[in-house]
Amino acid sequence: MSFPHVLRRSLLGCCLLSSCAVMVPQGTPPGVTVDLIPNGRYARARHRTMRPTFITIHATENYSRSAGARAHAQMQKTGALKGRHNAIGYVSWHFTVDDHSIYQSLPVNERGEHADYDGPGNRHSIGIEMCENRGNNRTVTVDRTARLAAWLMKQHGIPLSHVVPHQHWRMIRHDDHRDLGHKNCPHFLMDRGRPGAKWQAFLARVNAYYRAM
Ligand SMILES: [Zn+2]
Repeated sequence: MSFPHVLRRSLLGCCLLSSCAVMVPQGTPPGVTVDLIPNGRYARARHRTMRPTFITIHATENYSRSAGARAHAQMQKTGALKGRHNAIGYVSWHFTVDDHSIYQSLPVNERGEHADYDGPGNRHSIGIEMCENRGNNRTVTVDRTARLAAWLMKQHGIPLSHVVPHQHWRMIRHDDHRDLGHKNCPHFLMDRGRPGAKWQAFLARVNAYYRAM
């Protein structure tokens, strides 16, 4: 996905100097380790393209001490996260954030399986998981997530109104069409299971980073 640095610089230079038709390639967000699920394997066995128009925020609810961002990337890379009720058999998302690292598991132009089975959340959104492992600093994790979301908004022209909690999407399973409703996720940014003051504070933080970029 990411172009070599030298090539990226030369393309950017070209566009600065003239109104050339070359599209500026999408780069990697700052501080992100790109460690993708192998192309053609597990959640990427089928190539499913996406043009992201939303960003969906999750929390892992995985409290094991070792369940940081790298561990979640590893689990996706090795096919350890099964999705029994979706179309591809695996769960996947784009970025995992903890208090000191961010891992990318899917290219942002490929769809994941993190939000709502066959719904618009999966078909159109970049999924970001916030780690909750014991010992991980939640305040720092949320702040880093806000900065990443702002960067992705800028990169893809996504408005703040399209930065949504997982709770935004209605979950209807692929296989038996069971309606699971709206998940309380990310639970620590919801008020009584819905977006409220805590979510608004998060969006304000995203917006502050966006405006500073
Ligand atoms: Zn979620």
